[in-house]
Amino acid sequence: MTSAGGIQIPSRLPLLLTHEGVLLPGSTVRFSVDSPRNMHLVSQRLLKGTSLKSTIIGVIPNTRDPEHDTDDLPALHKIGTAGIAVQVVGSNWPKPHYTLLITGLCRFSVSSLLKERPFILAEVEQLDKLEQYTTPATNDASAEDGELGELSQKFYQAAVQLLGMLDMSVPVVAKFRRLLDSLPRETLPDVVASMIRTSNKEKLQVLDAVSLEERFKKALPMLTRQIEGLKLLQRTRKMSPDNEKRVLSVRKGGVFPGRQFNLDEEDEDDDGDDTAALERKVHGANMPEAALRVCLKELKRLKKMPQSMPEYALTRNYLDLMVELPWSKSTKDCLDIRAARTLLDNDHYAMDKLKRRVLEYLAVRQLKTSLKGPILCFVGPPGVGKTSVGRSIARTLGREFHRIALGGVCDQSDIRGHRRTYVGSMPGRIINGLKTVGVNNPVFLLDEVDKLGKSLQGDPAAALLEVLDPEQNHSFTDHYLNVAFDLSQVLFIATANTTASIPPALLDRMEVLQVPGYTQEEKVEIAHRHLIPNQLEQHGLTPQQLHIPQDSTQDIISRYTREAGVRSLERKIGAICRAVAVKVAEGHRLTKTETSTETQQQQQQMGDKAAPPEMPIVIDHIALKDILGPPLFEMEVSERLTLPGVAVGLAWTPLGGEIMFVEASRMEGEGQLTLTGQLGDVMKESAHLAISWLRANAKTYQLTNTCSPAQTFLNVGGIKDKVLAAHRAGVKRVILPKRNEKDLEELPANVLADLDFVTASNLDEVLNASFDGGFPGTSSSRSHPQLSSKL
Ligand code: ADP
Repeated sequence: MTSAGGIQIPSRLPLLLTHEGVLLPGSTVRFSVDSPRNMHLVSQRLLKGTSLKSTIIGVIPNTRDPEHDTDDLPALHKIGTAGIAVQVVGSNWPKPHYTLLITGLCRFSVSSLLKERPFILAEVEQLDKLEQYTTPATNDASAEDGELGELSQKFYQAAVQLLGMLDMSVPVVAKFRRLLDSLPRETLPDVVASMIRTSNKEKLQVLDAVSLEERFKKALPMLTRQIEGLKLLQRTRKMSPDNEKRVLSVRKGGVFPGRQFNLDEEDEDDDGDDTAALERKVHGANMPEAALRVCLKELKRLKKMPQSMPEYALTRNYLDLMVELPWSKSTKDCLDIRAARTLLDNDHYAMDKLKRRVLEYLAVRQLKTSLKGPILCFVGPPGVGKTSVGRSIARTLGREFHRIALGGVCDQSDIRGHRRTYVGSMPGRIINGLKTVGVNNPVFLLDEVDKLGKSLQGDPAAALLEVLDPEQNHSFTDHYLNVAFDLSQVLFIATANTTASIPPALLDRMEVLQVPGYTQEEKVEIAHRHLIPNQLEQHGLTPQQLHIPQDSTQDIISRYTREAGVRSLERKIGAICRAVAVKVAEGHRLTKTETSTETQQQQQQMGDKAAPPEMPIVIDHIALKDILGPPLFEMEVSERLTLPGVAVGLAWTPLGGEIMFVEASRMEGEGQLTLTGQLGDVMKESAHLAISWLRANAKTYQLTNTCSPAQTFLNVGGIKDKVLAAHRAGVKRVILPKRNEKDLEELPANVLADLDFVTASNLDEVLNASFDGGFPGTSSSRSHPQLSSKL
């Protein structure tokens, strides 16, 4: 507290204009500032000053609507509070700003403005004479006569009364009690008005009341209102001491001196601890008959229980959940197929096949609202937009969206809840999700259904099956609720990286839509249309501040990420935005020519503090390296292929296609094949097949020892992912089984153009295509003994 004796504030004060609240003398308030003037005030005045005086600033409430803030200085409120900045914290997240902790000292009025930029400086007149405020409270009113004395006495007594109604064991209350007796009476209106629940408008009235008499008159009704409110609260709740503590500790909120400690009842909705109110809610929740019966029974038990009994809280929580669940609350679907198409197109680049199927699905739903259709399951590598398409579907339907992460869930109670007999029992994720969204027809995205686990605690997949089965899910029973909840209105969508590990019974309920990875070009488009704008926004930056040219994006894609989707790409762009946000906040620029000699940096810092940094900051290759470090991936294909015995294989993984080097070496031995690395059964089989083939044909090819085995001729899967991986890695020629020729149609034109495809129906053709000038030994090229790879 600042009963700060004879403090004289400087006659010239920098002014902080704030929408965030009203600082009154004697209280401490946290302000977050981000306007250019306020930012300058902090960086050039508060952070540079060395004397106590330089930490004193004037805080003026900005009464203008923040929506209409412009660069022009608004008409200033005439009265403000001088305060000491006791703490300054800077942050660039989510956009550059400072948080100031300011303790109010005294009122002042603005006499004249000295300058408006870079921050406001004004000639001020101190209004509260702090040296007057030295009368200890206990000397009571004897020094003051007449109305003022009476008023201040009344005010003091009311404050004592308020405190009497509160629980002294709460530290903030005890502190207030001590202060009340040691503070000069004149400070009480300010101190009390900032602690009890008052609106900013009311605080402004107290601030504007320059004469003490008026100030007491303004603040007294607020204090009395608080007391009356509390009385009412205590009467209706017939508070037990226990209960009172609970209410207070919930409400104490702010730390004294500081924000209010809200002693008010208005805020708490009308239920409180009142079982009558709860009963009203139970009847108003529109729940089905069976649920209502259970609730009424529980209510009856609750009424008989003493509140100190642990079961009281359990029952109470149960009933609170029951009345909160959206038994019959739903949003109205607003599906317009044309609008849906536009929205899907606007939100997502490429993925045409998927978008088409989603639209069909939505169109059928529109025609047949009671559709108990299959559950869509998007299957593809991470970061290809599965979740984000799910979110768009919810938006097109005008429904709430909720994601339920199933990765690693191995306990069925995660889905179905714990029985209430357990300590700490909870409802499962489905019911919890419904409570969160507050409607019974949301879009639930069951994320990573392929990562469900199994354990002794029951199979979560079985529980999920019940959730998804239209024959059963209208009466889904969560163990915690123990009454049926109708899930038939929920729209479920699932995602997975691979179908291989989705439990078959679950897979059976779903329609699988493959979402393959993106080509380099698609990624560049996605980055510029979606990822960069989104990241800029999330970091509080604008295109006028940060520019990433296409070249750099391409570099990020090929040298800093190796993925089928765009998730790392998004993260790298995020990292760039963070780095730039720091530069913008520091107010100096990052350019190609920026050398890091200290003097230059210092000059820049000093010179640029007042002026905004040069915009936009362009991320070229050098900036990229500065921010992201040295490239993580370089082209390695050509290097490794110069070695004899190395071939490139293409593999499909749940994370997308991958290139894989197959290396064979020649050694003495029994002629056994040794396979290393993690290979699936199909791969092992292929290797054995290859060896058998080589043995059988050794004569034809004049081989005495084996060379690296190649692909088989079976029809293989995942061609699109595999070819995209080859393209990413810079491979030039892909040999694939003839039977897969049709799969090439799915590939984007530019990939088809960049790569040379050879379809082969026997190994002769494969070997021929693998070496420059064909393979010596095959019928077409026996005359060329030189082997050199041309991949
Ligand atoms: P997934 O669920 O497949 O792992 P997400 O939906 O989380 O992937 O996508 C990761 C990020 O990439 C999101 O920000 C998403 O909006 C973006 N994204 C992915 N694909 C596209 C696309 N085709 N167009 C626009 N943004 C995309």
